[in-house]
Amino acid sequence: MNTFEKYCSYPQGRRIIEKWNCLEPEDAVGCPLCNSKEATLWYKLGNTNTLKCRRCCFKYVSPRLSKKQLLKYYENISYSEAFMMDFELRKHDCFNDSVERKNKIRDRHYEIEITNKFTNCARILDIGCGTGLYFERLSGNHELHGIELSQKAVAYTRKRFNALIHECDIDDAVFKEDYFDVINMTYVIEHLLNPVQIMKNIYKWLRPGGLLLVSSPNWSAIVSRIYREFFRLNDPCQHINIFENKSLDDFLSKSGFSVKKIYYPYFKTEYFNKYEIIRLFRNTLIKITLPLSIMMGYIPDPEKILSPPFWGNIMVVEAYKGE
Ligand SMILES: [Zn+2]
Repeated sequence: MNTFEKYCSYPQGRRIIEKWNCLEPEDAVGCPLCNSKEATLWYKLGNTNTLKCRRCCFKYVSPRLSKKQLLKYYENISYSEAFMMDFELRKHDCFNDSVERKNKIRDRHYEIEITNKFTNCARILDIGCGTGLYFERLSGNHELHGIELSQKAVAYTRKRFNALIHECDIDDAVFKEDYFDVINMTYVIEHLLNPVQIMKNIYKWLRPGGLLLVSSPNWSAIVSRIYREFFRLNDPCQHINIFENKSLDDFLSKSGFSVKKIYYPYFKTEYFNKYEIIRLFRNTLIKITLPLSIMMGYIPDPEKILSPPFWGNIMVVEAYKGE
């Protein structure tokens, strides 16, 4: 048993597993990018394995929830009280003009700044648009489209932004070829069951020269490397494609896009503050000494052992479809 498994055998650790709530993942899958079944174990999280493909080195979760299980999962957690609460008991409510909403818009400052620099009159698609956090600070006059599963978020965003929101799964979305000038995906790609097919569709929907923005957790971040199983962005029910800056760059390039730059939002976000910096030092110390603490019978709570936010944890890729 490794340290994480030992920690999870105590009630404090079980809270992490229960929060993920991955009870019986049904689908044992091969590499989502190259289909190879040859893989080595990276680490285990509850009932799931994080694997590294032997052929293309991509990391992914298997077994994972099947599509049917996943849709049910999203239905249950979508904007529910439990979903909106994290281990530090901060509430994530992005409706209306809560402080949380303003913070979450600030966290997307790269996506918004890059779009505003690129165009002020465009057809824009936001995949997984939620409550329209990306739309709110766009300047200019745009035709806004979104794809979103949560009925509550769809109704809100349609009304607030006069946007054309398609209430469907991304697999079922249909658009004309070369229709959009900009396509944004904030925290979507790590969830996709079939990233290769979806990226082919996106390539078709975007016009030549169009802008593609993709944000994801970055599992090559220094914090991810130190904390491994305790990286706060691990969530094996939902985060099944374990992208690193290099693998995301490669994947987008292979999908036909030219990657211009990768950004790491942190210093202008809500997460760059004294409280989080102190937590970073404290939690890292607790993480490093955890095997000893467990031996001595001190079992820290999840908020003291999971990684705090830090520079590098999140990446935003700016890419273009070649003319
Ligand atoms: Zn592979």
